Amino acid sequence: MDSFKLGDVEVTKVVEWQGEFAPARVAIPDSTPEIWRDNASWLVPDHWHPDSDGCLAAIQTWVLRSEGKTILIDTGVGNDRERPHMPLFDHLHTDFLDRLAQAGVRPEDVDIVVNTHIHNDHVGWNTRSGNGEWIPTFPNATYLIPRPDQVYFDPRNAHRRPVPQLRREGSNLMYADSVAPVLGRAVLWEDSYRIDGNLSLEPAPGHTPGSSVVRLESGQDRAVFVGDVLHSPVQILEPHYNSCFCEHPQQAAETRQRLLERAADNKELVVPAHFAGPGAVEIRRDGSRFAISRWVP
Ligand SMILES: [Zn+2]
Repeated sequence: MDSFKLGDVEVTKVVEWQGEFAPARVAIPDSTPEIWRDNASWLVPDHWHPDSDGCLAAIQTWVLRSEGKTILIDTGVGNDRERPHMPLFDHLHTDFLDRLAQAGVRPEDVDIVVNTHIHNDHVGWNTRSGNGEWIPTFPNATYLIPRPDQVYFDPRNAHRRPVPQLRREGSNLMYADSVAPVLGRAVLWEDSYRIDGNLSLEPAPGHTPGSSVVRLESGQDRAVFVGDVLHSPVQILEPHYNSCFCEHPQQAAETRQRLLERAADNKELVVPAHFAGPGAVEIRRDGSRFAISRWVP
């Protein structure tokens, strides 16, 4: 089990799925062929597959144990979902809850679920199937959901989103099976939200309107769980590269630049949602860009 300590907080990664999710330049449309090739020495084998030119990623939950509470950051795709717009995750079925149990977490132990934003691969295990309906997987948890995303993805507002019809229908299915069933247990937060003495949430808009990051400050340690501000480490080298999933590209790039600057200057460990391999990274400035100092753990 991949666990490490940051101050008083124990951090454990639980992987739901990993593999090749798209050709590199479909996943990161702004990227050049050269950036993948020139960095192959460390992008392979966790982040890029040179033979297929595939971008590799993980879908994973970061489990935090802080001040006696168990906190999950993002809840993956979930099992048995109808996702017509994402064939890779249509009716995905994994043993994620068993892996969570191996990390010492039973569903009833979870106190807080953080959805950094509302996309298919961040809200799925909010719920599970029970007697033909979708019920909260974590019966004792408070679900922290950014209000701007709840509003944006509410099917009643779907006509406002400039996306293809199939994607809109997929988002409506996601909302119905993974978001609506937990709203009775949710805090829809805006602006900022303090989780406890070590952890807080702050907005990081662009990838989605409500995208957010979790900040950890404990003892001498600093970390920022950046969700989908980064999909691939090539975006550390070239922060203006968006992923194909960024809903508001200009704002997403500005947010990425701002968060990376702060992380480099304050020595914050950067913990994205989707990096395979070690999963967390220390970065430093490299002129107007950034470079990787060290992978953690
Ligand atoms: Zn994602």
